[in-house]
Amino acid sequence: MLEPSWIESANDPVAPFPLNNLPHCVFSRTGDPGAGWRLGVGIGDSILDIGALAETGVIAPPAGHEDAFRAPSWNPFMAAGPEAWAAFRNRLQVLLSADRRSQDGEGDADGDRDAVGRALVPQSAATLHMPFTVAEYTDFYAGIHHASNVGTMFRGPENALPPNWLHIPIGYNGRASTVVVSGTPVHRPWGQLKPRGADVPVFAPSRRFDIELEMGAVVGLPSVMGQPVSVAEADRMIFGYVILNDWSARDIQAWEYQPLGPFQAKATATTISPWIVTQAALAPFRVPGPRRETELLPYLREPGPMSHDIELDVSLRPSGSETATSIARTNFQELYYSPAQQLCHHTSSGCRMNIGDLLGTGTISGPERKNCGSLLEISWGGKNPIHLQGGEERRFLEDGDSVVMTGWAQGDGYRIGFGTCEGTVHPAIDPPDWAT
Ligand code: MN
Repeated sequence: MLEPSWIESANDPVAPFPLNNLPHCVFSRTGDPGAGWRLGVGIGDSILDIGALAETGVIAPPAGHEDAFRAPSWNPFMAAGPEAWAAFRNRLQVLLSADRRSQDGEGDADGDRDAVGRALVPQSAATLHMPFTVAEYTDFYAGIHHASNVGTMFRGPENALPPNWLHIPIGYNGRASTVVVSGTPVHRPWGQLKPRGADVPVFAPSRRFDIELEMGAVVGLPSVMGQPVSVAEADRMIFGYVILNDWSARDIQAWEYQPLGPFQAKATATTISPWIVTQAALAPFRVPGPRRETELLPYLREPGPMSHDIELDVSLRPSGSETATSIARTNFQELYYSPAQQLCHHTSSGCRMNIGDLLGTGTISGPERKNCGSLLEISWGGKNPIHLQGGEERRFLEDGDSVVMTGWAQGDGYRIGFGTCEGTVHPAIDPPDWAT
């Protein structure tokens, strides 16, 4: 059920940020570069300035983490742990609720509302930044339809899924340095490409630049080097989720990926949505994982439902066009391995995980063409063009294309929205003069 707020814009049944959600962001006031980056929580069409509210004493930072609300990222708050996360959420729900203030024994309720009102910033007056500092970025490959489709194209239908795929959540260590927030321009990458039939590669801008629709799990608690964690422990370590676009150059990937996996094909940029939707907000949308094709090893078995029912949509808008065309619609539930299983597996070798680690799920494709989360799959390797409203066709991304990913969990009379993960492709930057 929708939890009503005294902030009216939060009570719209299709608005992304009702009181049930309270996603975490980092923002600055647009046009005021001196104002700095501040922690915020989305409510209706506003952002609650957490730093400003903490200065009034209406909310308190977690004990032992007194600077957490003055930081320009959520990492110091995440370090306070799940009890502090829950206490913060509960306090905000009391302060913002239309109903609960009479039950709140603390302080002066009218004075609290005045303080909250003074700390609200319209989203239209804010610029959103990276919500957390990415410690390291790992990308998985946990979508069974995506892995089957790409494997069929790269290796043939008889070798679609590698022999390890149904046993291991496959991943690679990506780059944290180029994880960027929604709206950051992305330049077409240069790289080594080997045209079909050629004997040697060329160095050129990618001709098969692509998207990957994923979600990102934000790790909020560290693990100890040498010590594997269980799936249940891994689940408690996840602070929340963002939408993630793992930009991918398919021609660079096809030439470079054996034997160590993707490298430069995936290093250009990874775009995330600016709002961390917390695990707590998604709790009503937990669902069991899929039926297993083969029994998993005991360390990877899930003790409870750890997937989520989250609708996902991708749209593409060409340069100069007003019209965005929805090109894919899918659901988080299509993942074969949950983020908790991925995180458990990541620690299985004794690999230490840190606060702010980001785990990409892998491309989330569904069973049909209209459910595929990459252009590679939708156009089937460029063979079947995608028809956009307005008459243009696409096989892969053109310069000027804007891609917008959105997601939401549909509740009874409310939505938990993720905001948007947007990026526009800019032309490749002229390379240096190689002789100098
Ligand atoms: Mn990926």
